[in-house]
Amino acid sequence: MNVVSRLQGADVLRADQFDRGGLDLILDKARGFARSLERGERLDTMGGQILATLFFEPSTRTRLSFEAAMLRLGGQVVSVADPKSSSAVKGETLPDTIRTVDGYADVIVLRHPLVGSAEEAAQATDKPVINAGDGAGQHPTQALLDLYTILQERGEVDGLTVALAGDLKHGRTVHSLAQVLSRYGVKLLLAAPDALRMPPDIANDLRAAGVSLEETENLQEALSSCDVLYMTRVQRERFADPAEYEQLKGAFVLTREMVEGAGREVTVMHPLPRVDEISPEVDALPGAAYFRQAANGVPVRMALLTLITG
Ligand code: ASP
Repeated sequence: MNVVSRLQGADVLRADQFDRGGLDLILDKARGFARSLERGERLDTMGGQILATLFFEPSTRTRLSFEAAMLRLGGQVVSVADPKSSSAVKGETLPDTIRTVDGYADVIVLRHPLVGSAEEAAQATDKPVINAGDGAGQHPTQALLDLYTILQERGEVDGLTVALAGDLKHGRTVHSLAQVLSRYGVKLLLAAPDALRMPPDIANDLRAAGVSLEETENLQEALSSCDVLYMTRVQRERFADPAEYEQLKGAFVLTREMVEGAGREVTVMHPLPRVDEISPEVDALPGAAYFRQAANGVPVRMALLTLITG
């Protein structure tokens, strides 16, 4: 099966389902859509189709950029943006909700607090299910837009040193991004306090795949040897003990002096929302890419939606 037909009708559940060919195809298509957005073209590629976005956890960027992508493609959207407004609060199971939405939409985008929920949803329908974040598990479409951003900002991905910093334990974006980057010739630096290290199963898989990987507890050290610094928020909602969160939340704070003192041109990324791990004065630096990164969600999700619906 070729790359295009592998994506047709596919669920998007985990970042490691993509091989290099699939990733390059998505990047290429996303670039095409970015150009057509710049030109203000009106598209009808997905005219007559409906996207359902079901968000059982808060979201700004992921839900809105999926919906914007579908609308830009001429399709339509139905949405559960607030979990309190769905029948889940009446005790409905996820598979029952999905079986119902199967009757209303052509593609289903799901965010849910439980790891593995997207897989469970995918089993309940033949329609493509896209994982928009399953608890502390995966966030594969964020990884696609992160990859696209790295390419846009740096001109290439192969050969770069990328530092992933912050809450690598609970951060689903970094789990997915590390897997996507493992398809390219990158060096990974994992910077986290000991309590927030990358889960060993993911780190071991990366090593087994031949990725050059180093771990450090020192943000400055990672900054001084990377091309891209990917900061993350300490994921408050994943802590059973609020005192532990309070103790860890300020572990890594990136300041303008740190970036300017790195002695190299560093691209700073963040999936957002940021709390206080990037000081606002970093925003004015040319390498601060996080708002451009958020905007890239639209062309990348346009690419993905068109590829999986054929
Ligand atoms: N927005 C990202 C996510 O949904 C990152 C974050 O919340 O910290 O995982």
